[in-house]
Amino acid sequence: MVSVLLTEEGNVAVVVRVRPQNQQEREGSRPAAVQVIDDSMLVFDPEEPCLSGVFPGFRGHDAPKRKGKDLKFVFDRVFGESATQEEVFQHTTKEILDGVLNGYNCSVFAYGATGAGKTYTMLGSEKSPGIMYLTMVELYKRIEARKEEKSCEVLISYQEVYNEQIHDLLEPKGPLAIREDPEKGVVVQSLSFHQPKSAEQLLEMLASGNRNRTQHPTDANATSSRSHAVFQIYVKQQDRVIGITQDLQVAKMSLIDLAGSERASTTNTKGERLREGANINRSLLALINVINALADAKSRKSHIPYRDSKLTRLLKDSLGGNCRTIMIAAISPSALAYEDTYNTLKYANRAK
Ligand code: ADP
Ligand code: MG
Repeated sequence: MVSVLLTEEGNVAVVVRVRPQNQQEREGSRPAAVQVIDDSMLVFDPEEPCLSGVFPGFRGHDAPKRKGKDLKFVFDRVFGESATQEEVFQHTTKEILDGVLNGYNCSVFAYGATGAGKTYTMLGSEKSPGIMYLTMVELYKRIEARKEEKSCEVLISYQEVYNEQIHDLLEPKGPLAIREDPEKGVVVQSLSFHQPKSAEQLLEMLASGNRNRTQHPTDANATSSRSHAVFQIYVKQQDRVIGITQDLQVAKMSLIDLAGSERASTTNTKGERLREGANINRSLLALINVINALADAKSRKSHIPYRDSKLTRLLKDSLGGNCRTIMIAAISPSALAYEDTYNTLKYANRAK
């Protein structure tokens, strides 16, 4: 099967993941704001006629009347509520792992409002670990399979961009400075690198790194919703040819759990915000602008505004050019998240 995610270099693939409703949402009487049609299409705020068209026999007039936007969205992939972590991994990050093993930097983002499922998708839980873990397991598997031909070293780092400052999450320290090295690309000074000895140790590292994410003291529910967590995997490879010095090939994959996007849209409409909000938005808005510029075929050769924020400077060598990028837009199906979901879908649609 030819993958839709591997069409063109530099392209941004956009997928949407709809999380299951939580108990509070299920108990509410309002119908869901999102209807997944198939593995590439969903309808936002479906009106009854649409549903009856898609599902013959659906008795739309029996349902409570409401005014639907009834908007169809098509993405590279749509994951419904029952999609497993493994399925999301298989159809997103797994498809670009070859790129990393061939020496290209790649990046995968989870975008969406707080509570939409970003951290679940990227980090996951102990019982169902997410993309960060599944990527490492698959990477080790592939390296093992070709260890006769290539020697390979894998290192990881985990950092946070909060308030336009970079902090190391594995050996808590910061703010750390970024510089661009002509050979190594983007370098974060004194960032710690680690080599997990086993899958279990990796899980422990990710969990402890996540505990080091910034928690906002005034809002207990806003844990880490304002920081961007950047997990990076560095793959160093060399051909095993006796007697000849081979070039060292280095590539990195960046897996990013972004700050909640609800702040990006509030700032857009209301202008001035507190410093913290403004800074967080600076990185998120800059990323949105960079991705839009890359997604826009016309501007592909023109100016890409990497320098506008810490996050985009950090990812400058991992976005655009030969780098493959996947944006996973996380949404809740509940009517309670109506505006956030609509904003996320509009943004994801623009990023294609
Ligand atoms: P975010 O990081 O976007 O703020 P979370 O990933 O923390 O959101 O998700 C909010 C809640 O929903 C968490 O309790 C999480 O475990 C749960 N959740 C999110 N996505 C799923 C999913 N696909 N399946 C089951 N539970 C999920
Ligand atoms: Mg989160």
